[in-house]
Amino acid sequence: MRNKKITASIFLCIALICAFISGKSYLAMHEEEIIVEGSGVTEQKMLSDYFPKLKGTNGDTKIYVLHGKKPGGSMLVLGGTHPNEPSGFMSAVMLVENAELDAGTLYVIPRANNSAFTHNDPQEGSPQYFTIKTPDGDRKFRYGSRATNPIDQWPDPDVYIHAASGQKLSGSETRNLNRGYPGRVDGTLTEQVCYGITELIKKENVDIAIDLHEASPEYPVINAMVAHERAMGIASQAAINLQLEGIQISLEPSPTNLRGLTHREWGDYTDTIAILMETANAAQGRLRGRTDEDLVLTGKDKSYVKAAKLGRLFVPFDEDGHPLEERVGRHLTSINELAKAYSSQFDDRPIVIGGMPVFNELQENGLGNYLSPLK
Ligand SMILES: [Zn+2]
Repeated sequence: MRNKKITASIFLCIALICAFISGKSYLAMHEEEIIVEGSGVTEQKMLSDYFPKLKGTNGDTKIYVLHGKKPGGSMLVLGGTHPNEPSGFMSAVMLVENAELDAGTLYVIPRANNSAFTHNDPQEGSPQYFTIKTPDGDRKFRYGSRATNPIDQWPDPDVYIHAASGQKLSGSETRNLNRGYPGRVDGTLTEQVCYGITELIKKENVDIAIDLHEASPEYPVINAMVAHERAMGIASQAAINLQLEGIQISLEPSPTNLRGLTHREWGDYTDTIAILMETANAAQGRLRGRTDEDLVLTGKDKSYVKAAKLGRLFVPFDEDGHPLEERVGRHLTSINELAKAYSSQFDDRPIVIGGMPVFNELQENGLGNYLSPLK
């Protein structure tokens, strides 16, 4: 009997230790990483400034505003619609820490779905963080989930019905920010975040809005720009210039029957020019091998090299992989080309973004060289 009590106490202690460690790691996921405001940031707002109902919820998120030296047009850049797609998030961080607007205004939301940053996708084995080395030490960033944390929105329905169109999707898509636009005042938290972002676009008369993503290398829409029909002129001008710079990119029209997405609903429900962009992230793919921080950062994966040789992918994939530098470089160069294309077509509303490294500089020097030291 005494032995049993001792065994039971030992197991109880082990269980408590496990609960303490996992609880601590879960709470740590709610801690936001530091983003250092560069000298170009003139104002910091919250999404709840545009939709007060979000105040105090995990859906509220920071908006960095960069007013230009000269007046002009306005651009919105969203990173972190899907927090398991780090090139979008890191491109937004790079803009906040480095960009200087010579003309116009830039709004940047690095954590578009803030709640989705506070957990990971179950059973995907994703790393919780990735670390970027800078000359002044390491910077750690969250690798989150594709969808809103169930702790903030639960339960999922069996079928998700997109409110504005009646489109039916799988129930878990109810927590996907990029299926909830234009959003609803009394909707789920995800729909309310969508509503807040749509309000920002309307109230600030955002001229051009860009949503940054990544997808697995076997996904057909990759290294691509998806443009609303009103965005086609500017997107095609930017795509041609990207090709001339040696950056292969395809241009896809936003499907009219796929509803709830940024490139469709921002274009239909506001006056903005709506564009979504995708780069290749092997860490999201179904063919990937070990899923760790290294895969997120280097984008190197033997299985994908094999899949490319068998002609199964939509992007070239060799031993060099697709490092985060390359993916962020693609997004940032595309943003710059879109701003240039917009400014050439609307010369009374220029958007001129300075202070950013060009594609080759970023590849040579690494992302860490452009991240600010933590004070
Ligand atoms: Zn995505």
